[in-house]
Amino acid sequence: ITQAYLDRIAADDDALGSYLHVDPEAALERAAAIDGAGTAGTGLAGIPVALKDVVVTEGVPTTSGSKILDGWKPPYDATVAARLKAADTVLLGKTNMDEFAMGSSTENSAYRVTRNPWNPERIPGGSSGGSSAAVAAGMAPWAIGTDTGGSIRQPAALTGLVGHKPTYGSVSRYGLIAFSSSLDQAGPMARTVLDAALLHEAIGGHDPLDSTSIDAPMPVLAECARRGAEGDLSGLKVGVVRELGGEGHTDGYEDGVLARVAEAVALLESMGAEVREVSCPAFDLALPAYYLIAPSEASSNLSRFDGVRYGLRVGDDGNRDLDEVMALTREQGFGAEVKRRIILGTYALSSGYYEAYYGQAQKVRTLISRDFSAGFADVDVLVSPTTPTVAFPLGSRVDDPVAMYAADLCTLPASLAGVPAISVPCGLSDGLPVGLQIMAPALADDRCYQVAAALE
Ligand code: GLN
Repeated sequence: ITQAYLDRIAADDDALGSYLHVDPEAALERAAAIDGAGTAGTGLAGIPVALKDVVVTEGVPTTSGSKILDGWKPPYDATVAARLKAADTVLLGKTNMDEFAMGSSTENSAYRVTRNPWNPERIPGGSSGGSSAAVAAGMAPWAIGTDTGGSIRQPAALTGLVGHKPTYGSVSRYGLIAFSSSLDQAGPMARTVLDAALLHEAIGGHDPLDSTSIDAPMPVLAECARRGAEGDLSGLKVGVVRELGGEGHTDGYEDGVLARVAEAVALLESMGAEVREVSCPAFDLALPAYYLIAPSEASSNLSRFDGVRYGLRVGDDGNRDLDEVMALTREQGFGAEVKRRIILGTYALSSGYYEAYYGQAQKVRTLISRDFSAGFADVDVLVSPTTPTVAFPLGSRVDDPVAMYAADLCTLPASLAGVPAISVPCGLSDGLPVGLQIMAPALADDRCYQVAAALE
């Protein structure tokens, strides 16, 4: 199996640009060792997997899509990587991403452009666009992505995959290169709901190495996916979020996306679900709140990249002092979007502005959580489009950060509230995939899988 995927990568990845690092020899050696141990075929043993390059892997180059980590080989495994290793999976390679996971198209990678296998002139989504393109093109059976504001769900939607952002705290963040620590979550990207559930079960659960890890039993996911596939949703209450593409809130949404989502909702109803509209007024403010909170946390997290501890060091020629070396390293090591976020975040946190920006954004975050609580008092799941549009053309938004940010309109509320959300394919518009997003209360990830499987 590993050889077959490596052949596919060798044949197609020059054109698609999904991977940043593939070591065929190491992968085959590992596959042979698993064959030799005789575990292949039990559980996930022997199945290859691709990891987004934000996941730290022992001895395997890890860049987070940034030049500042060029050449860095981590001395340890992220918990996600360690658990996949313990399950005897084979690491196929590390996938391309927006630098430090900041972006919605993978065009902010410092290394290469990734193309959408459905149409190579279009973006594969982001920031986990290397993972989405690899799985959509058959260059990996499934992959791990990370989602801070939509980076699993949005690329999954734009490439016709299933992508799930777990409940915040239910998958360990230990060894994920931090972007915005109160939002970051790793999760599965796969071709079917059942595959996503199986991969999620392999990486999830409590981890004492992550101080925000929830010490609660993992919900049973694969079983729920199987049950959902039977297509009986009687008794399930579904809320369609008005503020995400509903009446009076269709600005920026494509008709084709709204049509496919409406059809998916009708399908849920035909399987016995009771559908109603739910209003979540604070969702209108999710975008500005996220683009203050995430850069604020990033400005702090990224201070560790100083040219001393990891990867790149610029100007250390014996004639410069430490501050100059740090400044030169950061100037040359970070790309434009990363610098923009650091500047925005530093400003929002600075004394005199803190209350006006960061403080206000935190209040909005609370209001969004309250909207979810009120919604979930009435319905079991909330649904919306995953993205307002289908995959857009390469280059069309790179010079317009605000247009790029708008790609996250539908995914940000669940991120800010920490609740689980899945994107499941619901048809095509103009020949390109559309995703339906299903959101559930914290720790009810199983509900996302169950409803998504019914639609498959
Ligand atoms: N597109 C969003 C951003 O640029 C979300 C990224 C993510 O989820 N990692 O911040």
